[in-house]
Amino acid sequence: MKTSARKTLSRPADLVSAGLTSAQRMDEIGRVAQRYAVALTTDLAELIDRDDPRDPIARQFVPVSGELDTEPQESADPISDEAHSPVAGIVHRYPDRVLLMPTHLCAVYCRFCFRREVVGGQRSLNRAELASAIAYIRDHQEVWEVILSGGDPLILSPRRLKAIVDALAKIDHVKVIRVHTRVPVADPERVTPALVQALKATGKATYVALHVNHARELGPKARVACARFVDAGVPMLSQTVLLRGVNDDAESLGELMRTLVECRVKPYYLHHGDLAPGTAHWRTSIEQGQSIMRSMRGRLSGLCQPTFVLDIPGGHGKSPIGPNYISATSNGANCQYEVEDFKGRRHSYPPRA
Ligand SMILES: *Cc1c(COP(=O)(O)O)cnc(C)c1O
Ligand code: SF4
Repeated sequence: MKTSARKTLSRPADLVSAGLTSAQRMDEIGRVAQRYAVALTTDLAELIDRDDPRDPIARQFVPVSGELDTEPQESADPISDEAHSPVAGIVHRYPDRVLLMPTHLCAVYCRFCFRREVVGGQRSLNRAELASAIAYIRDHQEVWEVILSGGDPLILSPRRLKAIVDALAKIDHVKVIRVHTRVPVADPERVTPALVQALKATGKATYVALHVNHARELGPKARVACARFVDAGVPMLSQTVLLRGVNDDAESLGELMRTLVECRVKPYYLHHGDLAPGTAHWRTSIEQGQSIMRSMRGRLSGLCQPTFVLDIPGGHGKSPIGPNYISATSNGANCQYEVEDFKGRRHSYPPRA
């Protein structure tokens, strides 16, 4: 593993000695750890308030026994990545973009991860598999964007990342390289100038999408890491999962979105929780998400607004799930629109003449 043992708390005893949980919970955590990968970096652990039993960072990384209770509607592959994987390491669901997953390892293991059945366990793609994945992209002219995902691609060394980016840079039809990562908050010191440069290629646009769920994750080191990307000309986006007890209220989520914009990271997606095994205790209702979105629209700058999306089970892709501000009412031949403003007042809008 590339993440050094010194910086990572991964055994139940590590979590106890870091003061993140009590010794009485060792067995419980051990049982979860046998089933799902556990890891938290010392950088994130430092941001946890040990006196707060509901600390929003601790909740995301310290296992609880509820993870071993799987509901009937939950699935090991909740969005059917497997069915859309033509070769190892590629998921091709939408015509113009593919996911390329060079590793299944992450710097930290989020308890609610929708890929929790695959992350942590398997090795990275070997040289031949990576070559086949790149060949697939080369053979598919319609692939305009390659999204490095995983696992967390930024746990790879700058040298390995550069090799991947250089291979993609040789493919004319690939114009955009997007990297989905948690490393800028989980292990910010990995974001060195060499790593940032490794992601850039002449003639291609590189974007970094940061996975972050609470404003407190954006400590001073994480802010420096984000600034390194943006200052180097790599625009940043964010994706957040709506999580019970972490960010499922308009104040917490609004503070996160504002903090991101202050860090020059444009909020991109707010995900409704996927039906991953043992994650029922994390999920909110769709209505709750819509109500939080409405409240953010009413109070915060347009820059702070993500799109609320659901990844449709079965592998049908992501769809925006509201709230919806416009409705059409028709009586007979007369169609009228009614549109809601940011204060919740409704106004009519005429149809096209
Ligand atoms: C989520 C996802 C994407 C990215 O979707 P965007 O809407 O472009 O962010 C691409 N491919 C797959 C297979 C995905 O699951
Ligand atoms: S960093 Fe991403 S892939 Fe890794 S455990 Fe967290 S959510 Fe899953």
